This record gives sequence, structure tokens and C-alpha cells, in this order.
Amino acid sequence: MKKKLYEGKAKIIYKGPKPDTLVQYFKDDATAFNNKKKGVIPGKGVLNNFISELLMHRLSEINIPNHLIKRINMREQLIHKLDIIPIEVVVRNVSTGSLVKRLGIEEGKILSRPIIEFYLKNDKLNDPIISEEHIIAFDWASNNELEEIISLSSRINDFLTGFFFSQKMRLIDFKLEFGRFWNGEEQIVMLADEISPDNCRLWDIKTNKKLDKDRFRQDLDGVDEAYKEVAYRLGVLSEKEFKKALKNDL
Ligand code: C5P
Repeated sequence: MKKKLYEGKAKIIYKGPKPDTLVQYFKDDATAFNNKKKGVIPGKGVLNNFISELLMHRLSEINIPNHLIKRINMREQLIHKLDIIPIEVVVRNVSTGSLVKRLGIEEGKILSRPIIEFYLKNDKLNDPIISEEHIIAFDWASNNELEEIISLSSRINDFLTGFFFSQKMRLIDFKLEFGRFWNGEEQIVMLADEISPDNCRLWDIKTNKKLDKDRFRQDLDGVDEAYKEVAYRLGVLSEKEFKKALKNDL
């Protein structure tokens, strides 16, 4: 039996085989509005495991350091143990979600430049939005770390925007998490968590159909089908597997 270290809303973290590794397990559980809405999206954990593996590998290829060592099985990944920086980084290309609610601006507007926002990872406080000033003043990250987080987030956005666009999806916005990792003598900032339709908004290029967790948040139909569609478009599921998956045979 692996030792459970932490259970989150969509993932479980277990002790890894070495002291500096962990095992990240992907659940089918879905939550929204800070746990107020709960449900299960059948097959989501498996799909997110494979989708995130693919995206992390592509990001490694452009020298974005990330915590993935390897996928172990259908639901688990071996990852580097990081000292997690307690900040959620949201990158936005198109206005929607909390940005529209908070500022009363028009929905679906392509932003003249991407916006990077920071939120404090704190469920009790509903992950409040914070500024760079707060991050530095309260030592949540150093100046250098913050600079690196911004530079990595911007590079990730540029890459992923193109990557999804090539599969006819528009990357609307997404959330990233980072941690500190000792690389020999040097401490580096490394991308953590996952990149999947749980924490990205993806719209079909032509129809603007939502292909992400917003279908769950907004009680739209075809929630699990949307995750399968993203996996299929990215080549994570073959056409045969996709057709099988649509018959709930994943
Ligand atoms: O709700 P909001 O518009 O701020 O979300 C922006 C992006 O960050 C969305 O892609 C959403 O899926 C993601 N997000 C997340 N986890 C949170 C908050 C937002 O993955 N706790």
C-alpha cells in the first residue's frame, strides 16, 4: 500500500519510491466553485493523466522544466517532489469566467495582450486574487522566482496557444502552479500540477463550443465527451479508441 500524503479535489499525492519523488493519482471527481458543486466525470482521471503527460512532454522539449518524470499507469504519474509556491497563476487570452464577473467587461473578447494574474492558494479564503506586491511583501516567492514564473507562464501560453490551435481549439485561459526544485547546487522554478481540461478553457475554433470543465460548472451536456474530444484531437486517443470511449467503454 502506498502512503497517501495529501488528497485534493481531483488528485491524490502518494509517497514515491525515492525520497525526492511522489506519485500523482488522477481522480474522476470534479468540483467547482471551491467545492460547492461536486460530481464525477467518468474517465476524466485517465484522460487528464494522458493529456497532461503529452503537454508536459512537449513543454520539456522547449526547455520548460516540469515535475513529470514518467506516467506509471492509466491514472498515475511519477513526479519530482517540489516545494510548492503557494500561488495559482492564471493566464488569459480571451475574456470570460471570473475576469468578466469581477470587472463587468464583455465576454469572449480577444485580449490585446495576454493577462497574467496571481491568486493565493487558500481554500478557506476562496483563493483571493493578489498582486506581485503581495507575493514579494509576504515572501510567497522571491523577486527572481516571480520573474521566472512570469517568463515561464508567458512561454507556456505562447506554446500551448499554438499547439491547441493546430488541433482547432482556442486556448482561452488556464491555471498553472510552480514549485522549487534542487537541481544539483542550483534551485530552479519548475512547473507542477497538471495541464488538462480541468484547468484550461478550450473552445472549438469554429463553433466556440466549450471543450473543458466549464461544461460541468455550467451544467451543460456532454461533459465527459468534451474531455474525450480533447484527448482525440491531441492524438491521445486514436479514432477507434475515441469511438469506443464515446460508448463509455474507456
Ligand atoms: O474562474 P476563472 O475565470 O478565474 O478561471 C481562470 C482559469 O483558471 C480557468 O481555465 C480555470 O479552469 C482555471 N482555474 C483552475 N483552478 C482554480 C481557479 C481557476 O484551474 N482554482
